[in-house]
Order: sequence, then C-alpha cells, then structure tokens
Amino acid sequence: MPSPRAVIVISAGLFAAILALKLTVRTPGFGFPLLYDIPVSLLAIGLGVRGGLVGATVGMIVYAIGDAAGEVHSNVAGYVSRALTFYLLGFVLGLYSERLRGAETRVRESEAHFRAAIEGSPVVVWQQDRDLRYTWIHNPALGLDAAEVLGRTDAELSSTASVDRVAEVKKEVLRTGRGRRIEAEYRNGDQPVYFDVTVNPLRDPDGTVVGITGAAIDVSELKRAQQELRKSQVGLNRSQEMAGLGSWEWEIPTDDVSWSEQLHRLYGTPPESFEVSYQAFLDRVHPDDRERVEAVIAKAYETGDSFEFDHRVVRPDGEVLVLHAHGEVTLDDHGRPVRMAGTAQDVTAQRQAEVSERRLAAIVEQSEDAIIAKDRDGLITEWNQGAERLYGYPTEEALGSPISMLIPRDKAAEEWTVLTRVLEGHPMERYETTRLRKDGRRVAVWVTTSPLRDANGTIIGASSVSRDVGSLKRAQEELERQNAELEQFAYVASHDLQEPLRSIAGFVQLLERRYKGELDDDADRFIGFVVGGVERMQALIDDLLAYSRAGRAELQRQPVNVGEVVQGAVALLAGAIDESGGSVEIGDLPVVDADRGALRQVFQNLISNGLKFNDNGSPWVEVSASRTADGWGFSVEDNGIGISLDHTDRIFRMFQRLHARDEYGGTGIGLPICKRVVERHGGRIWCEPRAEGGTAFRFTIPDRD
Ligand code: ADP
Repeated sequence: MPSPRAVIVISAGLFAAILALKLTVRTPGFGFPLLYDIPVSLLAIGLGVRGGLVGATVGMIVYAIGDAAGEVHSNVAGYVSRALTFYLLGFVLGLYSERLRGAETRVRESEAHFRAAIEGSPVVVWQQDRDLRYTWIHNPALGLDAAEVLGRTDAELSSTASVDRVAEVKKEVLRTGRGRRIEAEYRNGDQPVYFDVTVNPLRDPDGTVVGITGAAIDVSELKRAQQELRKSQVGLNRSQEMAGLGSWEWEIPTDDVSWSEQLHRLYGTPPESFEVSYQAFLDRVHPDDRERVEAVIAKAYETGDSFEFDHRVVRPDGEVLVLHAHGEVTLDDHGRPVRMAGTAQDVTAQRQAEVSERRLAAIVEQSEDAIIAKDRDGLITEWNQGAERLYGYPTEEALGSPISMLIPRDKAAEEWTVLTRVLEGHPMERYETTRLRKDGRRVAVWVTTSPLRDANGTIIGASSVSRDVGSLKRAQEELERQNAELEQFAYVASHDLQEPLRSIAGFVQLLERRYKGELDDDADRFIGFVVGGVERMQALIDDLLAYSRAGRAELQRQPVNVGEVVQGAVALLAGAIDESGGSVEIGDLPVVDADRGALRQVFQNLISNGLKFNDNGSPWVEVSASRTADGWGFSVEDNGIGISLDHTDRIFRMFQRLHARDEYGGTGIGLPICKRVVERHGGRIWCEPRAEGGTAFRFTIPDRD
C-alpha cells in the first residue's frame, strides 16, 4: 500500500500532466488557467485523500461545475476530455485513499491488539532514539512514571554497573545493527532482580537504524529456582561425595550407561574420557568377585527384583576398595526390564573395621581373664567366657544385670570410688579386691578398669579385666613352701652330715698319723685321697650351711663400723694372707646399718677371692667406700687374674666356678652367699674388670629409712 506521501507525489504528477494538456489544447476565454485550476485541483486531491472515492467524485463535480460555470467556450471535445481526465484523477485518488484507510485501520487494529497484549504482559518494552533517549516505554514491572523516563538517557536515570553494561550493549546494537540478548542483574533493595533483556535495532522504512527497541522480562523467580536447583545438585553431589556414594543408570534398550562423578571417583576412572558400559564396570570388579556379581545382576534382570551386594573393585592404581551396591530394576508394560539404576558406596573402612572387630571379639571371648563392660548405670553390656568361668554367671544371665551383683557388701564403697574415678576418665590399673561368685563364694581378683568411650570420645561406661589372684597366690605360696622345705632339708642334711664326717675325718687323720710309712706307698696315697676328700666335703658342708644361714637367719641390722668388720675379716684370713705374701689396704670406711656377722662374711669371701685368684708376685687387695644417693657403695679390688665380661653374671650362681679345682681350690658358693646377704640388705652386687688388670667387686648397702 503506497504511503500518503506516494499518493501526493502521484497526484502532483497527474496534476502536472493535466496542466500540460490544458496548455496544449487551448480554448477560447481560458486566459488564466493556472489561477483557477491549481486551487480546484488541490481541493479535489485533498478531498480524494481524505474522503476516498466519494471525496474524489465530489471534488471532481465541484471542479466540473466551477469549470462549466466559469468558462465560456464551445469546444466540446476539450470540455469532455477535461471532465474525463478529472474523473479519472478523482477515481484513482479515491481508490488509493480507500486502500490507505483500510491499511490504516488494520494498522490501528493490530496496534490495539499489540498494545492490549503488551499492557497485559509483565514485559518491559521501550524504544530509544539514536542518542539513546527514551521515546516510548511500557514498564509494568518497574512501575516508573513514563513522563520521567521519556526524553532521558539511561545514564541520566541511574548509573549502576549493570545499567552501564546494558547501555554498552545498546550502543553496540546501534553500531552493528544486530540484535543482542543478555541477562542483567539489578538491585531491588537487598534482593537481586534478574532481567532477560533483548535489544534490537529500530529501523525506518529505508532500513536506516534510527534507534533501538528493547524488551526485558523479570526472570528472578526462574533464576532463583535455577540457583536452588544448582545448590541442591551441588549439595547432592557433595553429600554423595561425603558418603562415598556413587550412582549409576543403565538404559537397557539403548545400552546407555551413565555414572555419577562420585562413582568415577570410586572406580578411579576419568569422567571426561572414560567410556562407561556394563562391561567396563565388570572389568573393574575384582576377578574373584566377578562371577558372583554377574549372577546377581542376571537374576535381577530376570526377576525384576531389587538387589544388593558387596564387591571389590580394583582401581587403576592397584588399590582395592570394597563397595556396597544397591540397585533397582524398572520394567515396561510387558514386564521387560528397561532400566536399572542404583548406588555404590565405599564401605572399605567399615568392612575392615568389622573384620578387626570380629577378631578382637574372638580374642576377648577366648581370653582367660574375665572381661566385662558396663554402662554408666552399672548395667553389664559385655561378658566373656572368662567372666563366665570366674564368676559362674552364664552370659545370657549376666548381660543387662547390675555389676553390683559381683561386689561384696564390704567392697561397695571401694567399687563406687573406683567407678566414679573411671567415669571421670582416669583408668585404674591393677588393684586387688574381692568379688562375689554366683555360688556365693568370694574370689580375690586383680582388676584393671578403664573408661569406655564412644566415637566422639564421650565416656559411656567402663570396661574391666579381672584375673583370679587366688590361684596365682596359691601357686606362689606353694613355691615358697617348697623352697623353705628344700632349704630346711639342705640345712638339716649338711648339719647332720657334719657329725659323721667329723668322725671320719678324725679317724682318717689318726690312720694317717699312725700308719704313714708303715703300709705300702699305695696305702699312703689312698689315705691321702681320703683325707683330701673329707676336707673338701667339710668345706662344702660349711659353705652350704653358711649359704643356708645367710638366707634363713633373721638379719640383726644395727649401726656397724665397717672398718672394724673388715679388720675382723682380715684377721680371720691372716694365714692365707701370709701364705700368699699379699697385702690388704683398707681405706676410710663408714658406719652402716647392717648385720655385722653377715657383712663380715661378705668382706671375708671377697678379700679371700682377691688373694686366691691372683698370680701376681705380690697380690694386693684394696677395700674402699663411697657415698651414693641413698646409701653406701663398697669396692673390693685386686690385681689378680681378672674375669672376662662374659662371666660377670654367672659367677654369682651356686657352684659356678671358672677354674678346675687343682688350679684354684673352692666350692663355688662364696659369691652366692655374698649376693644373698647384700640383697637381703636391699643392695646390689656386681663385678667389673679393672682397666689396669684384676677385678673390682662392688656392692651397695642402702640406708635404712
Ligand atoms: P670359689 O671361690 O669357692 O671358687 P666363689 O663363688 O667365691 O667360689 O667364686 C666363683 C668363681 O668366681 C671362682 O671360682 C672364680 O673363678 C671366680 N672369681 C671369684 N672371685 C674372683 C676374683 N677376685 N678374681 C678372679 N676370679 C674370681
């Protein structure tokens, strides 16, 4: 449909043509054609444009009447041609204007529809000119006053990062002539408001960009829903990750398998490049579990039942995880499986814990000791076989019963104190107490009680291990009794042997004195052997008696001047000292609390050994003392043959000698006697080689408190 401008141009063209006709076909009396024709033509055109066909006809009639009335001429042909021309003109104009009005009406109608649609919609629509000044706006969502907006630019209205960004986009659309769609965020108080903004160029009929037209729709709700969804998706992923829970889906008809990220993480497969399939899953299952897994899934496929199983998975780095799988099958209308979906959870640590828990439970169960756990209210929660044996209650009866059933009345207060301390977090190690058996008998036990904590470290009860000390005590007492009997026997035997031995010795010596040289040589030698043997036997018996006495006799501890004690020992050894040509040096010695006789015996043994085990031309023994932290330390040092470090322990045991009797005489009882005496005084004895040769024997006598 031509625009009004085009109608005017056409009309002007036609008018020019008529004018030319008029000038060519001159008629009499038609002196000033233009003066008359021009206004009348314009009137006809105007009526045509405004009034359509009717207007044009009226215009033409007015023109024709005027022409007929105002003019005197006889040229019929000219008159007719003029009338026809103008009729034609009016007709054409009328036709055009009619169509034009029809188009206008349609435009008006569609604009009304469009407006109704726009006004009813929440969409913000607007137009801006080339300077980006608003020329039109419909803004139900923003509630702005159009009068305030029109004629202004965005920058004049508000300036925020987001408005500026949209303004940039508008400029770009103006520049490029290409539409853009963006999402813009605005603030509405504290709340962010999101708009989906479309900006398109606005063109004039020539296609020149004269501005922009925009539409924006509030997508905040949608956006928030998306964010919520994303958040819950992230939350779901996170919780799957935390729970070590992976998920999978298998669309059976298309054989399309998908794994969640967490499942990839469990299998150690890269989500971007790994091609998932049922086979790929099977390949990763531990070879020993594969057959079982296949069977379970095949059964679920057939029956449509849900399934659950544990299986091991071998990750690419060789690590083996235990996964617990759970799956569901979806069937179609014909009962055919179309989909399987499920989860897999990492239960490696859990299964390991279960195994070690089972092992531990077995150990506890089989322990000889009674192992019991009780809650904070004193009710029994664990009871092993050891407890059954020791206390006589079967497990079923003990569980849930109060621990007080094991506590004799006189121990109730003690038990209460112990339990209070333990529940405060302090374990009680090995204390001796009494418990009550089911049969009413009391039993002496050693108990260790410790707090029991849950996973958070909160004390939820106590566990105790108890051992029957009665049996141990009885065994120990029996041992002590047997030892005492043995000592008694040794003492009596040696004591009683002394008498007959003494008479054998007396008579053999008599025999020797009286018949030496009178019998033959062999008889002399034999008598010599007997005398030697008897003497050795006497020495042995003396030493045994001394050893026995050292252990049995009550110690008479009193302040003793050690110097005098050592002098006494030296006096007793005078013969041996003389014989060896040796000397004994005595340093400053203290007064100590000790048994005089026993102490003398120690010094006598040590000094005599120092002189005896000595191949030095001039044997020498030195006795000295020094103060220690809690008593006195004594040293008996010699310049003798020395003792290798390998034997320094051995020589303190009974009958242990490092040399043959014909080399150095002795019974091997001297040092055990020393050890016994020193230990009964609470001290310690040991020996060490001296750097300059010889041996140093050292012992301590602690102060008596
Ligand atoms: P006995 O002196 O009767 O042999 P002891 O019990 O006194 O028994 O000593 C045990 C052994 O320790 C001795 O046989 C000897 O081999 C070694 N012994 C003891 N004292 C010394 C010493 N002062 N020097 C070297 N060896 C020694």
